[in-house]
Amino acid sequence: MRRILEPGQIEDVAQRPLPRLRLPDRAHVFSMRAARLRQQSGKDAIGGSIGDYLRLMAHLADAQQIALADMESTPPSIEQIAHARTFRMPLVASNGWPREQHWRRTLRSICDSLAMLPELSAPTRAVCDGLRVLGRESLEAQADALLAARTEAVDVAAAPFVMAALQVYWVDLASRMRTDDIPELDVPGACPTCGTLPVASVVRAQGFRYLHCALCATEWHMVRVKCSHCLTTRGISYQFIEDGPPGIRAECCDTCRTYRKILYQEQDGEVEPVADDLASLALDLLLSDAGYHRASANPLLPVV
Ligand SMILES: [Zn+2]
Ligand SMILES: [Zn+2]
Repeated sequence: MRRILEPGQIEDVAQRPLPRLRLPDRAHVFSMRAARLRQQSGKDAIGGSIGDYLRLMAHLADAQQIALADMESTPPSIEQIAHARTFRMPLVASNGWPREQHWRRTLRSICDSLAMLPELSAPTRAVCDGLRVLGRESLEAQADALLAARTEAVDVAAAPFVMAALQVYWVDLASRMRTDDIPELDVPGACPTCGTLPVASVVRAQGFRYLHCALCATEWHMVRVKCSHCLTTRGISYQFIEDGPPGIRAECCDTCRTYRKILYQEQDGEVEPVADDLASLALDLLLSDAGYHRASANPLLPVV
């Protein structure tokens, strides 16, 4: 039976303030991603090698969750918070924040954890072994190139692992923030916490749409039927795979010819932006054939 809201309840819903931001839940952010990656890897529509990759990334997300539990990064000072607010800049900008060296310890622990997998392929094992012995300067240079999306300077094979360690560092920071300390930006398409572009967007159960940061997992509100890249509200269409999974579409813009995927929590309660974006490469192929470009890469598949 359909439940109908009484007038008083409708007023309650209407008056409930819309949360501008949803900060990551440090107890579950990566373990939920791991569970979703595993679930998606078993689907018939997912091919063998993509399934293997999703399972590898699930192990990686488990290692991220373990590393996050031990991390305690230095939060921004009162002066840094005031500065970000005055200039409407991301509070802990990925391309300027003096990241602490413990992100490299996290990278080592992620690589150690993956190296214990008996099914790890020889090429991936070689990448992890290489990262474990790479010097400080080279690792920091890789991190800088990745965060600045300077793809020509990025070691493609190592990128998902380096990005995974950087995600743990920035999720640690974001999960300790107070939403009131995070400024509103002049650039609504970038994460107000760290300035990174979103990987996808999610229409949460209340019907509000949030963009999901590829780095720190902060979610920020943006109205629906609006291009999250060029911000136009005209010429937006939604593409999906015929008979494909419910709850995922590509929001396509005819002005800038880009797309980002949009997930609908009402259709599938377990949607997770990074995992679902990675598990829907068939949709990327469809959009590529139709002449659209991805607005930004998946952090676990940084160069596409
Ligand atoms: Zn962010
Ligand atoms: Zn656009």
